[in-house]
Amino acid sequence: TQLDTLDIIVLSCILVATAAYFTKGKLWGVTKDPYANSFANTNGLKAGKTRNIIEKIEEAGKNCIIFYGSQTGTAEDYASRLAKEGKSRFGLETMVADLEDYDYDNLDQLPEDKVIFFVLATYGEGEPTDNAVDFYEFITGEDVSFSESADPPLGTLKYVTFGLGNNTYEHYNSMVRNVDKALTKLGAHRIGDAGEGDDGAGTMEEDFLAWKEPMWAALAKKMGLEEREAQYEPIFGIVEREGLTKDSHEVYLGEPNKMHLEGSARGPFNAHNPYIAPIVESKEIFNVKDRNCLHMEVDISGSNLSYQTGDHIAIWPTNAGLEVDYFLDILGLAEKRDTVISVKALEPTAKVPFPTPTTFDAIVRYHMEICAPISRQFVSTLAAFAPDESSKAEMTKLGQDKDYFHEKVSKYHYNLAGLLRRVSGGQKWNNVPFSALIEGLTKLQPRYYSISSSSAVQPKKISITAVVESQLIPGREDPFTGVATNYLLALKEKQNGEPNPKPYGLKYEICGPRNKYDGIHVPVHVRHSNFKLPSDPSKPIIMIGPGTGVAPFRGFVQERAKQAEDGETVGKTILFFGCRKRSEDFMYESEWEERKKALGDAFEMPIAFSRDGPKKVYVQHLLKERSKEINELLEKKAYVYVCGDAANMAREVNTVLAQIVSEQRGIPEAKAEEIVKNMRASNQYQEDVW
Ligand code: FAD
Repeated sequence: TQLDTLDIIVLSCILVATAAYFTKGKLWGVTKDPYANSFANTNGLKAGKTRNIIEKIEEAGKNCIIFYGSQTGTAEDYASRLAKEGKSRFGLETMVADLEDYDYDNLDQLPEDKVIFFVLATYGEGEPTDNAVDFYEFITGEDVSFSESADPPLGTLKYVTFGLGNNTYEHYNSMVRNVDKALTKLGAHRIGDAGEGDDGAGTMEEDFLAWKEPMWAALAKKMGLEEREAQYEPIFGIVEREGLTKDSHEVYLGEPNKMHLEGSARGPFNAHNPYIAPIVESKEIFNVKDRNCLHMEVDISGSNLSYQTGDHIAIWPTNAGLEVDYFLDILGLAEKRDTVISVKALEPTAKVPFPTPTTFDAIVRYHMEICAPISRQFVSTLAAFAPDESSKAEMTKLGQDKDYFHEKVSKYHYNLAGLLRRVSGGQKWNNVPFSALIEGLTKLQPRYYSISSSSAVQPKKISITAVVESQLIPGREDPFTGVATNYLLALKEKQNGEPNPKPYGLKYEICGPRNKYDGIHVPVHVRHSNFKLPSDPSKPIIMIGPGTGVAPFRGFVQERAKQAEDGETVGKTILFFGCRKRSEDFMYESEWEERKKALGDAFEMPIAFSRDGPKKVYVQHLLKERSKEINELLEKKAYVYVCGDAANMAREVNTVLAQIVSEQRGIPEAKAEEIVKNMRASNQYQEDVW
């Protein structure tokens, strides 16, 4: 008799587990982020699970829980790396957990032989990441209380913590700082330092590596752990599904979840379930050969998605075909790209990060961040699987020597395939278990764009304004190209019937899995933001948005123009814009003229051209020139909005505003800085920076 699918799956799982046990996983290409995330929902793995963390760890036999608060996947990735390392080096029974999945009022009952890690990203203006909001409110709350009323409540809790932040933001690493403070106040004992990684300085990975060694030493001492020679242990088993081909209807070829596979994708559309949206218009808005800026209109009328002016749209990109080919080729997987596999967690708390059965091609193309910067720690892991001794020695050196790594890898923006190819001289890396790859690379992340339209004007059509990421790097042959923006560029070229003019054709699978994105569609979801116009249109506003920073302000000005046309009184609306040259990258030039007709003198647009004259002029200079007027507007409670470059521009604008306040009001700078800080606190000064 025939086995039905369920039987086959169950049998396969048993087979994988047994074989993995006997071979210690050596024969297995195994997969990802064991410990990662969201697709588990759609795979049904979350069904019936408990929110009681104590119950969970007892049932799973764990003594080390690694919680993450993650927005873009980095904190989640660090959490899984810590989990793997804790297990392989120190024999800890680790599990990774999403902060959103548990309750915290019984933390006081955690047995003393356990330890909790918190890996916490700070988001936006010092906010918790979406998945950490409840935990954060609970633990820092005034009236936090636990199930037993010991004093202090968390006197027996041991914890370790690391924060991911960006020093260009006002509230640098405030999540880890505030959670650490709250836990200490509740009597918990921190082990090692509360680490802080700085994305602003570009040192996140190095900060993490430098923090974790002394932390492990302190933890080993405290818990009496003995370090052992780290052994690579895969967390997922992969079974080849011989009865299936890529044309079998149950095989995922890049569909994000079951509904999409079955062709019945329904809302709610969100970070776990994208809407496959039609792009109804796409065009180039720069007048210059070597740089591209895309304007796109995404139609959401077929979904129940909605947006508000100032929100963000997330684009779910597809990796470039060329990069998928390089990756599969150097890893010796090219021939097997369409082999159908099932992926199974070999460890009870691990979650499969993408739906299966699927193919190597689909995983690499739709689910893995194969072009991102490579972690040095991962290079060390891969040394063990090098095809020859000299490649192994080189990988070991790259893994150990930060400066050497920079010189050879980071400087050129090489991705994993590029690195492996160079290290081995093209020899295939056949021995790398697929698991190690998926564990070492993050999940392909959606990219966010500040919506550049007004929901009052076009509620069902979202505008995007995106500069295409492409850089020539000295010493590197091909240009470095960004993932999502080049995918969008390819969509635009397809839509307008343009040949791909680039010399290095990236070959995107434009039509998506099973041609489901044909007719120019792109997977999206909408994220709501706090970047909002004042509800009273008569309030004056000052917007500062050079380059693509102008995106949300196109929406703001569109909205104010409509309000004026509708007969409302619209307050002063000043937009400080900046670009290189009027003739090259002055975005939406004719549109601003139109808005001016509706808004009249209420609308002004000072422009700083950085390459149009003898002197480089930036938005900060223009602000300074108008000190008197800016100060008067601030005194009238004008709202200030800054969008775009977080590293330099936003920071300098902040400084200049404080200088203006100080000079114009004749008060000390420190006092003026305090005033600007208070403006931020009361939302009179808002940022949308990246
Ligand atoms: P990616 O491939 O993600 O590369 C981005 C950068 O990462 C590169 O420039 C490089 O510095 C680094 N990098 C990537 N790979 C490597 C490597 N192998 N080695 C070294 N470095 C590497 N952008 C807009 O154009 N318009 C907007 O309106 C806009 N709004 C945004 C709003 C928010 C809230 C945020 C967070 C971002 C916004 N962005 C916007 C930026 C946007 O999300 C993307 O980051 C940007 O478009 C680049 O995406 P990409 O996939 O093309 O590039």
